[in-house]
Amino acid sequence: MTASTIDTTRPEVTLRIGGEKRRTASGGTFDHVNPCTGTPDATIPMAGPAEIDEAVAAAHNAYQSWRQTNPSERRRLLLRFADLIEQHADDFTRLGTFDNGTASGLVAGLVATSVEWTRYYAGWADKITSEVSGSYRANGEFSYTLRQPYGVIGVIITWNGPLISLAMKVPAALAAGNTVVIKPSELTPFSADLYADLAAEAGIPDGVLNVLPGSAEAGAALVAHPLVKKVSFTGGPDTARKILHTCAEHIKPSVMELGGKSGNIVFEDANLDAACGVGTLLSVGFMTGQGCALPTRMIVARPVYDDVIARVEAIASMIKVGDPFEPDTVSGPVVNDAALQRITGMIERAKGDGARLLTGGERLGGDLADGYFLQPTVFADVDPQSELAQKEVFGPVLSIIPFDNEEEAIEIANSTPYGLSGYVFTNELKRAHRVAEALETGEVLINGAMNLSVHRPFGGIGISGMGKEGGREGLDEFLQTKSVSIA
Ligand code: NAD
Repeated sequence: MTASTIDTTRPEVTLRIGGEKRRTASGGTFDHVNPCTGTPDATIPMAGPAEIDEAVAAAHNAYQSWRQTNPSERRRLLLRFADLIEQHADDFTRLGTFDNGTASGLVAGLVATSVEWTRYYAGWADKITSEVSGSYRANGEFSYTLRQPYGVIGVIITWNGPLISLAMKVPAALAAGNTVVIKPSELTPFSADLYADLAAEAGIPDGVLNVLPGSAEAGAALVAHPLVKKVSFTGGPDTARKILHTCAEHIKPSVMELGGKSGNIVFEDANLDAACGVGTLLSVGFMTGQGCALPTRMIVARPVYDDVIARVEAIASMIKVGDPFEPDTVSGPVVNDAALQRITGMIERAKGDGARLLTGGERLGGDLADGYFLQPTVFADVDPQSELAQKEVFGPVLSIIPFDNEEEAIEIANSTPYGLSGYVFTNELKRAHRVAEALETGEVLINGAMNLSVHRPFGGIGISGMGKEGGREGLDEFLQTKSVSIA
C-alpha cells in the first residue's frame, strides 16, 4: 500500500444495535477530521442515551443464549472472527490510518497483534474450569466454584489504537460468555465499524456485540445503565475519575487502562544500540508518541549520558515524519488540533523550565503545514520533578534525565503518580531482576522485550489504572466466582 495507490474513500459509519444498522441517531453527528490535512472527511452518526439503552437491551436479551452456547462453539466463532480480521488486514490498516493518522506500517503490525489476541482468547473459551475448594468433604460438605460471566459489559475505548484496544477486551469478554456494548472514541470510528461487520460475518449472534459511535454523553449513559454489569475502559485518568464516580454510585466493577509516564533506565553496561534504538523509536517515532506504555522518560547512567544523548539525537532527527501511507514514514500526525496545541504548549513550558532541547520542538511546515505534524522532540537535562517529566505528553516528546547510582535511577523512575510500564537496559542479570522488583509499575520490559504480548497480563497501578488485559488474568476480569457447597 502506498500513498498513491490507496482507496481514499471513507466508509459510511453506522450504529450496530442487535444486528441492525442505523444511519442516524439521537446524539447528532460528528465531523471526523483528517489529521493529515486538517479538513473534515466524514460525518459520523452519534449515539445518544436512547440508542445506548436499546443496545444494552439487545445485549441483555442475547446474554442468556450466548452464555449457554457450547463453549467450543464460542471458540469456533471467535476463531472465525480472528480469521476474518486477518483476511481484512489491509482494510484495517487503511481504516486505522484514516482513523488517527498512525503510520500504516505500524497499524499493520497492530492488526496482526489484534488477530493474535483474538485467537488467544478464542482458545480460552472452552478451558474455563471450576475447582473443588477446601479438602474433599470438609465439614461434611462438598464445595466447588463456578466461574460465570457478568452479563453485559460496557466497553469504552480511546482513539490511539482503535482495533488493538478492542482486541484487548472484546474476545476475552465474549469467550467468558458475556455480551458487549462498545463505544469507540468519536475521533476514530472507522476500524470499529468494520469490526462490527466482521463479527456479524463470523456468525456471532445478533446482540452479542453492539457498536455505537458516540460522545462522552453516550459513554456516561453506558456506564450508568443498570443492566451493564461491568465497565472495561481505556482512556485518560480524568475520564476514568468520572466513570469511577458513576461506578461507585452503582457499586459496579471496572477495569481501567489509563495513561503512563514510563521510565526507561539505561545502565552503563547496557547495549546502547538497542537501548537508544528502542528508547527513541518507541517514544518519538512509532505512534507519534501517542501510546500509553511508551518509554517517555529515558533515565541514563552518568558515565554513558553524553554518548546516549548523541545517539538519541541522531536517531530522532532521522525519523521520517509525513504522509502515513508512504512506506518509509515512521511517524504520522498527532490526532487533532487540540492535541497539537497541548503538546506544543508543554514543549514551550519545558524550555522555560530549563530543559535542554536537543532536537525537534516545532510544527512541520511546507506540504505538511495544514496537518497536525510535529518534529520528533528530545529534551536532555530534564528536571525529574518538572511538568515534562511528571505529566503524560501523549505526543512525540522524550525527556532524558541523568542518574548517578541504581537507587537514584529507581527513585526517579518511581517518582510519578503513574505506574504502567517500566523499561530497563542492562547486561547484568542480577541487576535486571533487582530493578524489575523495585519498579512500581504493572510491567517491566528488559532489554527490548516486546509490548502487548497477549500471553502475559498488562495493566497499570497508581493513576495508570487497575485490572489486567492479556493472559489468564485478562480472562478472569470477565468472570466472577460463585462458591457452591452441598451438605
Ligand atoms: P478520553 O479519556 O478523553 O476518552 C476515552 C473514551 O472515553 C472516549 O471514547 C470518550 O468518548 C469516552 N468518554 C469521555 N468522557 C466520558 C464520560 N464522562 N463517561 C464515559 N465515557 C467518556 O481519552 P484520551 O484521554 O484522549 O485518551 C488518551 C489516554 O488514553 C492517554 O492517557 C493514554 O495513555 C490512555 N491509553 C491507555 C491505554 C492502556 O491500555 N493503558 C491504551 C491507550 C490509551
